[in-house]
Amino acid sequence: MSVNIPRGTQDILPGTVEKWQRLERIATDICRTYQYKEIRTPIFEHTELFQRNVGNTTDIVQKEMYTFTDRGDRSLTLRPEGTAAVVRSFVENKMYGDPNQPVKLYYNGPMFRYERPQSGRYRQFVQFGVEAIGSEDPAIDAEVLSLVMDIYRAAGLKKIELVVNSLGDQESRQAHREALINHFEPQIGEFCEDCQSRLEKNPLRILDCKKDREHELMKTAPSILDYLNDYSRTYFEKVQSYLTALDIPFTIDPTLVRGLDYYNHTAFEIMSSAEGFGAITTLCGGGRYNGLVSQMGGPDAPGIGFAFSMERLLAAIEAEGVEWQTDDRLDCYLVSVGEKAKDYTVKLLHDLRLEGIEAERDYQNRKVKAQFKAADRVQARFVAVLGEDELEQNKINLKDMETGEQEEIPLDELTSTLLKKLEAK
Ligand code: ATP
Ligand code: MG
Repeated sequence: MSVNIPRGTQDILPGTVEKWQRLERIATDICRTYQYKEIRTPIFEHTELFQRNVGNTTDIVQKEMYTFTDRGDRSLTLRPEGTAAVVRSFVENKMYGDPNQPVKLYYNGPMFRYERPQSGRYRQFVQFGVEAIGSEDPAIDAEVLSLVMDIYRAAGLKKIELVVNSLGDQESRQAHREALINHFEPQIGEFCEDCQSRLEKNPLRILDCKKDREHELMKTAPSILDYLNDYSRTYFEKVQSYLTALDIPFTIDPTLVRGLDYYNHTAFEIMSSAEGFGAITTLCGGGRYNGLVSQMGGPDAPGIGFAFSMERLLAAIEAEGVEWQTDDRLDCYLVSVGEKAKDYTVKLLHDLRLEGIEAERDYQNRKVKAQFKAADRVQARFVAVLGEDELEQNKINLKDMETGEQEEIPLDELTSTLLKKLEAK
């Protein structure tokens, strides 16, 4: 009986994996210039971590978690997102005591959500995210936004739109919350069950409902921006002025609330406007979470972060038709004729590789002609041919596949000659 890949997951095969590697390199290089350091947390955590900190009224906690009981009867959950674990680690490792504040971290790894799979929506997907914890300077909000925009730009995306909002501080949110309840309560019966239960628990989340998006009350709902107190308004204005100074275009959408419970002040999403990108246009989401660290038992340290999935970034790149410059040519293919020469290439190949030369030889017992064909298939720049005669005379024939030039060189100079020639290419 054959076993297939689980629904909503994918194999990333050679040919595609190089694209992932390139994007990961772009993202990590940019993180380095911005001074964000990598953090790796476990793939599973105590279920409670997500229930309490992502929030009980969110889709993630209500419907999407891969939760299991281990042999020791603990409830564990495959991580559905990265922030809760990073903040847990920040608190557990007392990173708030580090004199370098804010603590600036990035992560890159698989997340798991039990969702209905469709294009851009998987059950296992890879999120790249950053968290800056320990500063409530609006300049750090702008920095985080600028970082992700730089990654997208470096990846070649042009058709992207940054949408920002402010969810305000505690006081502003409380005032807005009451206004929302008053707005929706009279007609809440016309909304889905989830929204009905959200009305008291977290009415802001009604605005994020996917089912009731078209309801007339959604369009007339009170805007958070009208409820921001002075501090929150000034904060938001600062963030906007920094974005303008950084030449980052943005629009403000007062209905943008984000799926997770822990956000306040700055919330944002980056969308793709590429034609053919599909129904799901959100590439990246993030925002400020000032209460989360203290909620997890740490000090009152404010934080901000974002996460995007590599899958959607790749899809956006495809949709925009960005050209990939891939350089997967081989430096040198070793062709051998006869048993002795073939044996000799085992060590010769290793010598080349030790010098960083991308090299390959035949393992299929191919005839000479077929070895040359194999070298062509992998687009070898050079082919080095070793026969019994050459071996006896300590020589090897080196052919430049681009120019067709051939020369016989001393066998022990193959590595140095190749290094010189490759350098010149
Ligand atoms: P959506 O509204 O699309 O469900 P979300 O609000 O659940 O998104 P977040 O939890 O904010 O998404 O995650 C941040 C980013 O992670 C998203 O903007 C998206 O790029 C990506 N993402 C989320 N869920 C998936 C998924 N199931 N498959 C692939 N990427 C995903
Ligand atoms: Mg979701």
